Amino acid sequence: MQRWDTKRVFPPFWPFYCNFGKIHWMRNIQMVDTKNQYLAIKEEVDLAIQNVLDTAAYINGKAVQDFSKNLGAYLGVQYVVPCANGTDALQIAMMALDLQPGDEVITPSFTYIATTEVVALLKLTPVFVDVDPVTYCMDIESLKKAITPKTKAIVPVHLYGHAAPMEAILEIAKQHNLYVIEDNAQAIGADYTFSDGTVKKTGTMGHIGATSFYPSKNLGAFGDGGAIFSNDKVLADKMAMIANHGQSARYYHDVVGCNSRLDSIQAAILNIKLAKLDTYNKARQAVAAYYTQAFAGIDAIVTPAISNYSSHVFHQYTIQLKGVDREKFIAHLSAKEIPCMIYYPVPGHLQKMFASGQQYQWDLKVTDQLTPCVCSLPIHTEMDEAQLKYITEGVQSFFNS
Ligand SMILES: *Cc1c(COP(=O)(O)O)cnc(C)c1O
Repeated sequence: MQRWDTKRVFPPFWPFYCNFGKIHWMRNIQMVDTKNQYLAIKEEVDLAIQNVLDTAAYINGKAVQDFSKNLGAYLGVQYVVPCANGTDALQIAMMALDLQPGDEVITPSFTYIATTEVVALLKLTPVFVDVDPVTYCMDIESLKKAITPKTKAIVPVHLYGHAAPMEAILEIAKQHNLYVIEDNAQAIGADYTFSDGTVKKTGTMGHIGATSFYPSKNLGAFGDGGAIFSNDKVLADKMAMIANHGQSARYYHDVVGCNSRLDSIQAAILNIKLAKLDTYNKARQAVAAYYTQAFAGIDAIVTPAISNYSSHVFHQYTIQLKGVDREKFIAHLSAKEIPCMIYYPVPGHLQKMFASGQQYQWDLKVTDQLTPCVCSLPIHTEMDEAQLKYITEGVQSFFNS
């Protein structure tokens, strides 16, 4: 609980605040608090932004190169290609694989739409598989069933900050000669432990890893940003080329690419936040531990599990509500000005965007069971104990009333 700002924790006076219950910050609980996170590092960030302005190297300046290098070192991956956002990162990764229209790409349905949207955008065929009810990540049996001669790639998602079962996924990919692109937008900084004891960062185990620096992500910019990483030089060079209009030398364009850049101001901010990423993730883990302990006695709440192969960096703290009217639960919290969100209310295979296109889906029983009962509670790096007490008591009071 080291990151809790003691100046903002008032345990002895809790009943006093509770009676008034309306003091400003308590009514101001947010899913993510990027404002206070900025204020805590304001001096450093303002200086870094000023430096970029002073050098006027807005695009591909030193800050971008420094950040790419630092991110590669942090992740233990050889090549980092910065780009404009996480969706582009996934798209560029898939463009680099030379897939043909109709080739099948396997992804979970229980994820953010970006993962599957880019598959369809490139005229590839999304194949939706189920998730594990405990980790919320790709289910291995479902994956095995979905493989056909047309399958070319698997895109596991490290959802909510917990790794997908990569060891099994990589093994299956090897057997069938498939590419693996990890969607690491929600799990940057998480560790995966292989059965031989090797530890790797999420996003560095497959052929390509893709991530997002959207402000609310664990490593968030103050605007859009993304990156692609790989240990394969040929793939990395190709992705860098694709992200830059398919350009091999200035004004010579070898392949059809796109324009996807991380700007220097965002890179300068990310450089500062990367140095704090482990501390930020620990703060999230402390929040999660507090919630899990507070909900231990409530049978109707399934708290997030942490498997023995993955650390959990809690991009979201997502509970399952068993036999509970979720609308009523949300209304109860909302009356106390406690926000919560549903990630995601409609799984990929039921989205209208896929209604007429070609897609396949495989027995998505768990996805269909989870969708109506998941609920994500506020979690971020700036939460203090008083807020956590208020939120957990708010949740507990629903079950005691
Ligand atoms: C946020 C996110 C993305 C997309 O990132 P953007 O930067 O918003 O484009 C992709 N996949 C997952 C799982 C995400 O959470």
